[in-house]
Amino acid sequence: MAYQISDDCIACGACADGCPVGAISEGDGKYVIDADACVDCGACEGTCPVGAPKQA
Ligand code: SF4
Ligand code: SF4
Repeated sequence: MAYQISDDCIACGACADGCPVGAISEGDGKYVIDADACVDCGACEGTCPVGAPKQA
């Protein structure tokens, strides 16, 4: 299962820079993960200052 970003996201962009497959992009007020591109590496979960990315 892919990771998903919760509404806790403060749109800092740190996770997008660290995603190895470029699956994270800026959405409407928060960042979003393309579930088809995500390879479940967990890097975004470790990078996020507010713990918004969670394994779905
Ligand atoms: Fe990108 Fe890995 Fe996060 Fe998936 S789990 S969005 S591949 S950093
Ligand atoms: Fe949102 Fe966390 Fe990504 Fe920053 S690192 S854009 S707070 S999910």
